[in-house]
Amino acid sequence: MSRFDYVLVGGGLQSGLIALALRRRQPDATIALVERNDRLGGNHTWCFHDGDVPSGTRDWLDPLVEYRWDGYRVQFPGVQHTIAEPYAGISSARLHDIVAGALRGHPESELRLGTEVVHIEANRIELRSGETVLGTVVVDARGPRPLEANARAGYQKFFGLEVELTEGHGLDLPVVMDATVDQSEGYRFMYLLPFDERTVLVEDTYFHDTPVLDPDRLEEGIRAYIRTRGWSVSSVVRREKGVLPMPWWGRFPPPGRGPLAAGYRGGWFHPGTGYSFPVALRLADFIATRSPNALYGRELDRFARAHRRQARFSEFLNRLLFRWYPPASRRTIFERVYRLPPETVRAFYALRLGWRDRARLLIGRPPKGLSIRHRLRPPHPS
Ligand SMILES: Cc1cc2nc3c(=O)[nH]c(=O)nc-3n(C[C@H](O)[C@H](O)[C@H](O)COP(=O)(O)OP(=O)(O)OC[C@H]3O[C@@H](n4cnc5c(N)ncnc54)[C@H](O)[C@@H]3O)c2cc1C
Repeated sequence: MSRFDYVLVGGGLQSGLIALALRRRQPDATIALVERNDRLGGNHTWCFHDGDVPSGTRDWLDPLVEYRWDGYRVQFPGVQHTIAEPYAGISSARLHDIVAGALRGHPESELRLGTEVVHIEANRIELRSGETVLGTVVVDARGPRPLEANARAGYQKFFGLEVELTEGHGLDLPVVMDATVDQSEGYRFMYLLPFDERTVLVEDTYFHDTPVLDPDRLEEGIRAYIRTRGWSVSSVVRREKGVLPMPWWGRFPPPGRGPLAAGYRGGWFHPGTGYSFPVALRLADFIATRSPNALYGRELDRFARAHRRQARFSEFLNRLLFRWYPPASRRTIFERVYRLPPETVRAFYALRLGWRDRARLLIGRPPKGLSIRHRLRPPHPS
């Protein structure tokens, strides 16, 4: 039976960030990371805003960052904003290389790929082979649980096509939302990430009432959009898809005394954007700056409660979005967010909204704002 300071179950974004934070903050700590697939990180491009990154984490995060842009654009009918906030991206391939390298570089740590965990407790896990692995801290980061049939949630659904074009795309910055596309089924936008002069990820994203995703239909829509931009595809590099819950109310148990449910599994994500990077990063830093014997307790409970308070406000916004606005006018909410001061936009994405930001989000002139007056109107039937 092997024993480690930290046993990380699931080799996705959350465990990857924890492993790197630990390597930097506690170089002697022993870590076992167990992933059922043959590679870490699945098939993603994770993006984040510069404001999502606390200064104390940059030193160990930097090697992971594969793409950096000086800002990004958002586009709505008749108006375009350029946001001068650096934006960055990490690929699954880079996460695999950096995290695997960090673990293999430590003689007493282990990376177990192609290994399924079948049972998890506070200080031990069991593998499908029957082997038991012990840990002072066991982190359960196995990704999103299937949503209950009666879960109260809307969904962010997306399908992305990374393509190489026959000629340059001409984009100098990512377009995080091009919401000039059809809005009849709910808030919808195209997301454009330029990787090099001719390679771009084009992602069709919907905020929708149901989790059903039709990749063929979305791919058709993306190809039509590419044509409207005057681009022509030379080859498809990669496809990615996702259905992320946008809950109106989350039920996530407090950390207790372990195992620690982390990442999507433990509710450590932004309910309003589906993004988990900022929250996963903060949790990784929190874990790595405590000794494994002193992780559980009042401080962790307080940290989790602070996250839940932020998440609850965001869940409340989701409820307004999905219940009080008919699909075709949901776009107006996001149009409004981008008219707010940059510090509020930054706080919204980082899930760090102060009272002033919350007031700015809620108090606005109907029908454009998430206004109280709008709330008092009859809800959108669903
Ligand atoms: C395509 C896509 C793009 C996204 N883009 C962004 C983005 O740009 N920015 C952002 O902030 N968020 C993004 N998200 C949302 C969120 O950040 C990701 O879903 C993120 O990967 C969640 O991290 P996680 O570690 O909780 O789970 P995951 O990254 O899903 O990792 C869970 C891991 O656990 C493994 N596993 C599961 N069960 C077992 C088991 N029994 N034994 C062993 N291993 C197991 C899985 O194979 C998987 O590798 C995106 C999501 C998707 C789907």
